[in-house]
Amino acid sequence: MSAEIRKILVADDSEENRAFIAKMLLDLDVQVVHAENGTQALERLKEIEPILFILDSDMPEMDGYQVMNQMMTDENMRHIPVLMLTANLSDRQQSLHKTLLAVTDHLSKPLSADKLVAKVKLFLELDDYRLAIKTMHEDEEKILETMHEGLLGIDAKGTIRYANSAALRLLRTDATQLVGLYLESIFQDPIHTVCSDWSDHPVAKVCREGNILQVEKSDFWRADGTKSKVKFAAVPVSEMKDLELVFAFRELTDARESKTKLSKLTNTDHLTGLPSRIRLEDTLDSAIERVKRHGAHLAVIFLDLDHFKNINESLGHDMGDRIIKDVAGRLKQCVRQSDTIARMAGDEFSAILEGIDKPTDASNAAQKMLDCLREPFLIDGHEIFTGCSIGIATYPNCGDDTRTLLKNADSAAYRAKALGRNNYQYYTAEMNRQILERIEIEHDLHHALDRKEFVLDYSPIVEVASNSVTGFEVTVSWHHPRRGVLQSDSFLPIAEDCGLIVPIGEWLISESCKQIHESSIGDKKKDYKLCVRVSPSHIVKPQFASWLYQCVQDNEMNGENLLVELCETVTMNRQQNCIDVLNDLHTMNVSFALAEFGMGYAPIDLLRNVPLDVIKLPESIVARLQVSQTDQTIALGLIGMAHNLGLKVWASGVDNEAQLRFLVDNGADIVQGSVFSDKLAQDAIVESAVLIENIATRFANIAQTNG
Ligand code: GH3
Ligand code: MG
Repeated sequence: MSAEIRKILVADDSEENRAFIAKMLLDLDVQVVHAENGTQALERLKEIEPILFILDSDMPEMDGYQVMNQMMTDENMRHIPVLMLTANLSDRQQSLHKTLLAVTDHLSKPLSADKLVAKVKLFLELDDYRLAIKTMHEDEEKILETMHEGLLGIDAKGTIRYANSAALRLLRTDATQLVGLYLESIFQDPIHTVCSDWSDHPVAKVCREGNILQVEKSDFWRADGTKSKVKFAAVPVSEMKDLELVFAFRELTDARESKTKLSKLTNTDHLTGLPSRIRLEDTLDSAIERVKRHGAHLAVIFLDLDHFKNINESLGHDMGDRIIKDVAGRLKQCVRQSDTIARMAGDEFSAILEGIDKPTDASNAAQKMLDCLREPFLIDGHEIFTGCSIGIATYPNCGDDTRTLLKNADSAAYRAKALGRNNYQYYTAEMNRQILERIEIEHDLHHALDRKEFVLDYSPIVEVASNSVTGFEVTVSWHHPRRGVLQSDSFLPIAEDCGLIVPIGEWLISESCKQIHESSIGDKKKDYKLCVRVSPSHIVKPQFASWLYQCVQDNEMNGENLLVELCETVTMNRQQNCIDVLNDLHTMNVSFALAEFGMGYAPIDLLRNVPLDVIKLPESIVARLQVSQTDQTIALGLIGMAHNLGLKVWASGVDNEAQLRFLVDNGADIVQGSVFSDKLAQDAIVESAVLIENIATRFANIAQTNG
């Protein structure tokens, strides 16, 4: 055993779990090192070389399987034994992570202290053997412990006492199952009972005489009942704990039959029949070599379907699969026969365009792809729309190896998503910085609610007819510990993309109702409206209407106290479902305002189908009212149209008296902006009676001057 204290790395995002594990291992003469996330774990793995890595499968950001995937690609880490702590895995997850699970030992959660200690003891024992064998390797260089070589330590009775990670991987088993078996058991079909006849076994006989036995080709049975062809060497050892020999083996990779089967499996995507990611990477490797020689250009296109989850959710996974197949067919039509189109994963595809004259030539293919995926897919009488976002990386400008080109094309596609989807973008170095920043914001957003970093602000709205403050528009800002105060437009779109918009939206609505309830205008609150913007993906959540109703009731308010601001995308997806919810809420007297009226794509449709009460003038028009006659004309047109439809007109962002006069003169019904008051914090709302009075007086003065 080494004199140095052995280390065990524990990666778990919960401090409580890490402390529990450390406590269980107190008596084992090991040092427990903690990592609170995947990135930290990978760094620590390199620094401390633990004898065991206890890894929680379910961590935010990078989960245990992603950590293992990275570990497996690093020569210096892949030999470290892993004990994976798994929550209850679904069948689908089990099949997804089959390969990884096969090379780890695992314990399911909730953890049993006894089982944990027993497992760790086994790993400590394995490490004793590993050290002993390592000494032999260093002294005599008889055996190489490489990532390909399986090593087994065998005692005098022929029992397996030690197995390295490669052996476990090759035999598709874990240490708990393998240690204690007779070596003979891997030479025969495991369904036959193993009764050891070790002393007569050829391996034992040769080694006992001090000779090394080398066999070029033999069959081994793996734990899953399959057979593999191996080459092995048995090396006698002495004075190495209780081991009699070390058994090294390597899988023969030229077994033609399994090779073709494997290559077929890994090179083709089953759903579409297109080349897989692996094949595309190989093709790209060779293509880069070719263009390097000829000094030509090459482009890699990365394409991800837009909002594909919606199709799966609304029409089912099978329909989703059929669309993926059709997409593959269409994409093939967009490139030359000599180009490669592959399915990378899920709704992601990639293309290699070889032999282009200049980087910008790739945009033709990208535009073709955008156009052909914009056309509806006709499936079982349904007309289904999708679209895609595309990233382009060219050789040599955006990278000169496969990994970099694919990564950069992916980054560019990410940028295309952020710019509103359904477009293509070329990779630029600046993108990397922006994407890293976005990933960081996304990560921080996950904790912002728990850490109470969101703050609500209230902007008074004034009703022109009654000269009085009739409500407050609620906005959320994020008081970020490093970035300072961020306004909602810099983080809500990201929250929308990463699925956090619903928890943030729920907090915003319930917290603002609570704050208004607690404020000094509490008694009068029945007269005030809270104006909140709600995301379409929030509205279509099951039970949204009943949740909202409960929320206002809990704060002794009712539907009339809510004015929900909608954006024009509200009905673009899952239309009927969404409109049904809005109608339900309307019957509870919740009113609806349409934001940025006139700026979007589908306002006419919305006017027809959605139970609207108010339209909101675009702030960009309000901002230019005193300087632009065109904007005045547009505003007049929008106000007239809204009034003819029986809708009220709300102008926000009113910053000066000239804008206010124009709006009041021309029929705006609700006005709001810094001309009356800056946004108010909750404390100011508590003391707001006087302030509200002041705003009303100020408004009356301006309106009178006007009159
Ligand atoms: P975005 O616009 O940001 O790309 O969002 P999205 O909804 O397209 O979602 P994203 O690209 O992040 O994820 C792809 C989704 O595709 C995830 C999963 O629901 C679905 N998916 C992945 N593989 C398959 C598959 O083999 N068949 C089907 N039907 N759906 C799949
Ligand atoms: Mg997608």
